Amino acid sequence: MLRRLALLLAPLALPALLSAQTAPSTVKPGWQWTMDSVRTVVNAVRAGRSLAPSSWPGGARVAVLLSFDVDNETIPLRFGEPTVGTLASAQYGARRGLGRLVRLLDSQKIPASFFIPSVSLALTPGMADTIGRSGRHEFAIHGWIHELNATLPDSAERALLAKAMTELTALTGTKPTGYRAPSWNFSPNTLSILREMGFRYESSLMADDSPYELLQNGRPTGLVELPVEWILDDAPLFDPRGNSYMNPRDVAKVWMDEFDKAYEERGMFLLTMHPHVSGHRSRIIALELLLAHIRTKAAGTVWYGTHAAAAEYVRKVSGLGEPIAPR
Ligand SMILES: [Zn+2]
Repeated sequence: MLRRLALLLAPLALPALLSAQTAPSTVKPGWQWTMDSVRTVVNAVRAGRSLAPSSWPGGARVAVLLSFDVDNETIPLRFGEPTVGTLASAQYGARRGLGRLVRLLDSQKIPASFFIPSVSLALTPGMADTIGRSGRHEFAIHGWIHELNATLPDSAERALLAKAMTELTALTGTKPTGYRAPSWNFSPNTLSILREMGFRYESSLMADDSPYELLQNGRPTGLVELPVEWILDDAPLFDPRGNSYMNPRDVAKVWMDEFDKAYEERGMFLLTMHPHVSGHRSRIIALELLLAHIRTKAAGTVWYGTHAAAAEYVRKVSGLGEPIAPR
């Protein structure tokens, strides 16, 4: 997730959303819409009932879900304008960052979820062994080449996601059940495609701190949303382009404060990181400090799980049932 790029592209997202077939008004500003039009747009993809459990597996008070978006070279590649320099700094994620992060997780027997654009894994297939060796971590889908869904026609988005699923399954030997949109960028078609492809959870949206059910056009989907947040993402805090600098110890403090509130609320703490961002020597300190803080504050009352395990747990205890096939 690169916030800077997302911000640059943000103006593209709104017209793309409004061009959805369900959108009633493609050009009028909101103040000229009817309330029916407002509701139609808002309800296209919206948070439904909370799936926050009263406790986590084993009676734990708080859940910690760590995710790594293994973007590497797909960030400079996706717009078709890579340079030697941007590719090299992105390759750092595969060559150095990932191994350093996985060693930290494995030394503490902490599971995590790895959302990988399949091009990223095809360029460095050895990452599957690095991640998969412990048998503790999850592989999940993060697009084909970190494409921005809202800029794509339905057919292209659908084809890229199908290709990503086929390739990631072949490269990892497991069929992913979870999806995270590259740059957290949802098109008007994304949810329909995810439902048709049989995904069981989604993790790109920000309507809550706790898991919730996604609604489509006001109707239940049976799809679990594990919400993310820019505050809980290493990329904007560290600013990998180097236009500003944030001390990794200050980054750790933001995450510790987020964890402390999740602990108070008996909630979920979901953190997104990137090997090419957090895998640097000085920056992995932020994750080390966070894990030490959690160990000190919440030993015996914290549950670490993959996103898939968390999604299935809340699905079960909430009585959500299976994902509902789209009409
Ligand atoms: Zn990403």
